[in-house]
Amino acid sequence: MQQQQTRPSMKVEAKLFLARYKRDDKSHLVILDNQKCLKCKNKPCIIVCPAEVYHWEDDRLIVSYDNCVECGSCRIVCPYANIQFSYPRWGKGIGYRYG
Ligand code: SF4
Ligand code: SF4
Repeated sequence: MQQQQTRPSMKVEAKLFLARYKRDDKSHLVILDNQKCLKCKNKPCIIVCPAEVYHWEDDRLIVSYDNCVECGSCRIVCPYANIQFSYPRWGKGIGYRYG
């Protein structure tokens, strides 16, 4: 009987290391109104993002858009529909090398 081989699991950080990113000059993530972020209680965009794109600093949301893996989760969880998400322009953004 043939024994089934299992692949060792990888952490998200290790998987992200395998991706390549071609930076666009223009951010594909736009915060529409920082006043809404100020009153946003748990700031779920920071919690949900797997790539640590969002940070809260000096009463404003910092967006490191060039880390984005384009999963779209932040847009879905924002209670104020305050994130304008579009895919980076052609040929830019994330590229997955191993599926
Ligand atoms: S979830 Fe939306 S409103 Fe809240 S901090 Fe993030 S972008 Fe701002
Ligand atoms: S699309 Fe995904 S990876 Fe990009 S900022 Fe939103 S949650 Fe983070």
